[in-house]
Amino acid sequence: MPSYVVLLGPPGAGKGTQAERISDELGLAHISSGDIFRENLKNQTELGKKAQGYMNRGELVPDDLTIEMIKDRLQRDDCKAGALLDGFPRTPAQAEALGKMLAEWNGKVDCVPYISVPAEELITRLCGRWTCRAQGHVYHEKFNPSKKPGVCDVDGSELYQRDDDKKETVERRISVYLEQTSPLIEYYKKLGVLAEIDGTLPIDQVTSLMLKALKKG
Ligand code: ADP
Ligand code: ADP
Repeated sequence: MPSYVVLLGPPGAGKGTQAERISDELGLAHISSGDIFRENLKNQTELGKKAQGYMNRGELVPDDLTIEMIKDRLQRDDCKAGALLDGFPRTPAQAEALGKMLAEWNGKVDCVPYISVPAEELITRLCGRWTCRAQGHVYHEKFNPSKKPGVCDVDGSELYQRDDDKKETVERRISVYLEQTSPLIEYYKKLGVLAEIDGTLPIDQVTSLMLKALKKG
C-alpha cells in the first residue's frame, strides 16, 4: 500500500528544508506544490499564467486548479510508493479532495507532522531565505547559509530571493495561512494522524523529531 505524508505548517516553518532531508530516507517522492507552480510560472504554461497573480499577491491559487495539478502529479511513476506532500493541502476542500483521491488508490494520509513556529520568527526566516534556481533547494543567510554565498551547495546553481518573500507579501501569506490553512490542524487531529513538532529548534533536531514521529528515528 502506498504511504502518504503531509507536511503541515505556516510559510517558513521549514517544510521544504525537512522534506529535502527525509524524503530519501522515507523512500517517498517530495512533492512541493509551490515548486510545481513556480516551474509552471517559469515556463509560462497555461497553469502558470493562471496562478501568477495569486502567487504574487501571496494568496492561494484556486482549489480546482491546485487539486487537478496535484492529482496529475501523484499519478506519475515516482509516486508509486507514495509521496511526501509539502504545501498541499492548504484548505479544507483540498484536504477532502486528497482523502478521496487517495482512497481511490487504496491509500490514505498516514501521518501529518505539523511544524509549529510563531509568526515573528516566520518573517525573519522568509525575509532571509535564498532559493536555488535549478531545483528549489533552500538556505537562510543566517540560520543555514550556503558554503559559498549565492551558490547552491547541491547543484552549483544561482541562489535568488523569491518575489513573494518580501515583507508585505510574507505578512499576507501568514494571514492567509491563519485563515485558510490552520483549520487543517484540527482536521488531521480528529483523524488521529497529527504529530506536532517544535519547529523553532535547530534544523537537525527538527529532522530527528520528524523521523521519530514517522517511526524511522
Ligand atoms: P517552508 O517550506 O515551510 O516555507 P523552508 O524550508 O523554505 O520553509 O524554510 C524557510 C526558511 O527558514 C529558509 O531560509 C530555511 O533555511 C530556514 N529554516 C528552516 N528550518 C529552520 C530552523 N529549524 N531554524 C532556523 N531556520 C530554519
Ligand atoms: P512556502 O514555501 O512559503 O510555504 P510555497 O512555495 O509552498 O510557499 O507556495 C508559494 C505560493 O504558491 C503560495 O503563496 C500560493 O500562491 C501557491 N500555492 C502553493 N501551494 C498551494 C496550494 N496547496 N493551494 C493554493 N495555492 C498554493
